[in-house]
Amino acid sequence: MRLLENLCCYIWPGRGNNCNSYLFAHVLRGDRPHVLIDPGQTVNELNERCLDQLLSAMGRDGLKPEDIGLIINTHAHPDHCQANQALVEMCKAKAGNQTLIALHEDEEGYRRAMMEYMTKMLGQGVAFEPNFYLKEGDLSLGKESKLNLQVLHTPGHSPGSISLYWPDNRVLITGDVLFYGGVGRTDLPGGDGKLLKRSIERLSGLDIEYVLPGHSTQFGAIIKGQDKVKQNFASIRLNYFPLL
Ligand SMILES: [Zn+2]
Repeated sequence: MRLLENLCCYIWPGRGNNCNSYLFAHVLRGDRPHVLIDPGQTVNELNERCLDQLLSAMGRDGLKPEDIGLIINTHAHPDHCQANQALVEMCKAKAGNQTLIALHEDEEGYRRAMMEYMTKMLGQGVAFEPNFYLKEGDLSLGKESKLNLQVLHTPGHSPGSISLYWPDNRVLITGDVLFYGGVGRTDLPGGDGKLLKRSIERLSGLDIEYVLPGHSTQFGAIIKGQDKVKQNFASIRLNYFPLL
């Protein structure tokens, strides 16, 4: 679904676990112009074919997987990055530069630990190697800085969780930091409630029209409109902060 001219949203429609994906279309120079945020899983615990569903939805918007030049993971949990490698392999079908994968520098140690943990627990690792690391600050992408994002280091759900802020359209992609009427869990290894609270407070100071979260809740996925966004922060402060 196209939310804005260059921004498509793929809200996970299935019953099992998977993340929402977001795609900035036609922003990079060269022959792989798309940037995908959080590809999600290939197959989830209910055997739903998450990646196939994402690719079909992209196809309906006229977007091809081999045109993805950059994958950004908001954090290293498998439900956000398991499909990374499958996508990179798909991209190899088309000649040209490799598709790159990026995540925050503070997530790297955690990614490695998670990889071992998942392999032990589930017998399946999340095998991918990032090509570069993101840091707090401006991330200008494309010709003549077509897409100007700000990388915000917002730890708490995991050590190197990021949110991506697009000031031009007042869009905030929050990964698992903040949802519609909820917050990311902090009980997994690497979680920290106090840090999450601080991260959410920081996000609440931004001028936001759209919040694009990593998962949907009973209230929905995308929070649209400045008033609703403000109400959401207020309700999180009231209902979740005492628990964090
Ligand atoms: Zn997560």
